[in-house]
Amino acid sequence: MSDCIFCRIVEGKIPAKKVYEDDEILAFNDINPARPVHVLVIPKKHITSLATATPDDAPVLGRMLALANRIATEQGSPDGFRIIINTGRVGNQEVAHLHIHIVGGPDPVGPMLKRL
Ligand code: 5GP
Ligand code: ZN
Repeated sequence: MSDCIFCRIVEGKIPAKKVYEDDEILAFNDINPARPVHVLVIPKKHITSLATATPDDAPVLGRMLALANRIATEQGSPDGFRIIINTGRVGNQEVAHLHIHIVGGPDPVGPMLKRL
């Protein structure tokens, strides 16, 4: 999808600081980090969101999760991290290409959400 920012990163048309890559997954630093470690992990194949993923996507989604601890450790969050997958309008998803945020660093990232 040529109008998708993350597909353009996969194609090498937009630069990104890559931290992991294999045949079906790419991980790169978030351009606007919320924590000292803030990595986005994406499938190279365009999947819009968890709301549109199909059962066929389950293996790559599982691999993305299974890679998270390795990426977090290598990037400076060896003592835990948080995974966030914003989905759709209610999830405040801004980029319509499924991505896992890995956030962490030396210190705890804080409470999960503001309470109502
Ligand atoms: P979302 O709100 O969709 O879950 O998160 C999108 C994330 O993508 C944001 O944290 C934003 O900073 C990041 N982002 C948006 N555009 C780019 C870009 O061109 N390059 C990189 N590396 N990150 C981006
Ligand atoms: Zn895409």
